[in-house]
Amino acid sequence: MNVNTLAEKFTDIYSIEPQGMSSAPGRVNIIGEFTDYNDGFVLPCALEFRTVVLFRAREDTIVNVHSLDYPTEKESFSVAGKITTGPSQWGNYIRAIVFVLKRAGYSLPGMDILIDSNVPQGAGLSSSAALEVAVCGAFNHVADLGLTAQRIAVYGQEAENDFMDCQCGIMDQLISVKGDEGKALLIDCQSLETETISIPEDLMLVIINSNYPRKLVDSEYNQRRLDCEQAAAKLGVETLRNTTMDKLVSIASKLTINELKRARHVISENNRVIKATEALQRNDIDSLRELMSASHLSLKHDFEVTVPETDGLVEICQNVLGDKGAVRMTGGGFGGAIVCLCRSEDVLKVKSAVDENYEKQFNLKADVYVCKAGDGLKVISL
Ligand code: ADP
Ligand code: MG
Repeated sequence: MNVNTLAEKFTDIYSIEPQGMSSAPGRVNIIGEFTDYNDGFVLPCALEFRTVVLFRAREDTIVNVHSLDYPTEKESFSVAGKITTGPSQWGNYIRAIVFVLKRAGYSLPGMDILIDSNVPQGAGLSSSAALEVAVCGAFNHVADLGLTAQRIAVYGQEAENDFMDCQCGIMDQLISVKGDEGKALLIDCQSLETETISIPEDLMLVIINSNYPRKLVDSEYNQRRLDCEQAAAKLGVETLRNTTMDKLVSIASKLTINELKRARHVISENNRVIKATEALQRNDIDSLRELMSASHLSLKHDFEVTVPETDGLVEICQNVLGDKGAVRMTGGGFGGAIVCLCRSEDVLKVKSAVDENYEKQFNLKADVYVCKAGDGLKVISL
């Protein structure tokens, strides 16, 4: 929805005009899966899909929130006193941001908020991070908190970890804040240093959501994180970033099979991210294909987070693209999406192959999104 129409809606609801607009994108991860919470490397890019938050500070302590995606539900709570979870599932993301900002010692005003988004939800494109970052950007603006990009990302992650009980890493929020049009971002999740990497003009990002119903995702996700932590402890390091494949092989017998497999994925995936970054800079689709394919197999066999539906989608795309594209699952796994890098002339072939084969094989319809890399968080006064 365009800003003027959205601003009119805001005024209809709150009988006052919005004072500002904060917007943040969803993201797709090109490579580097489950490496972020192991202090490793990731290579995501922000998408052109964005979550827009219109806002106005209030004189009192009440935060009111409407989302156009949930027209029958209104969220409302006070920033004064203890912040606890409320009855609205999506409203909790806004409470989560207030919770972490208050915990960090900031005092916040009440605020009227209207949310509009075209980031697909639950598709592995991180609509939750887009929402957290946009809301945090809004509070940063009205309360003049002076937060750096990195701090906004960290508060978004803490909101998800400490309030929403999802033990995600920093990637989704950091790319949502720092995304850059036409560019991917190499993130070192240990130092939080970032480097922008241009995506060649003729390389398209095709994201395909399997629409496989994700179940038990958080508990499985959190279990993988635990496996990694236990493997690191047995390797005598704080995180898997600080070890090597040789070291892992040398103490393999001391690890459970799951610890060994999870660690093998993380260590090998970190190497692939660095190589894929170089390949992207060279516009070298052959190397990207090999690296993304190896990443997918590692996620399937060692990290065990793929499902037949995402494996099937990867196979369908690989079959139609041959040596002209690079494909793998992306995001948190257990369903969700796959990402495909290919030349623009091959996008239609991918779409028809998915149309022809996926539903036939899996009795589900896939959603296909053809995207370019978009910008990160933007906050403006209206
Ligand atoms: P993903 O981040 O992969 O899209 P999640 O399950 O982590 O999936 O986050 C999706 C949740 O984020 C939604 O169920 C909802 O609670 C919240 N959310 C995302 N976008 C919006 C929106 N536009 N309005 C309200 N809530 C949203
Ligand atoms: Mg999410």
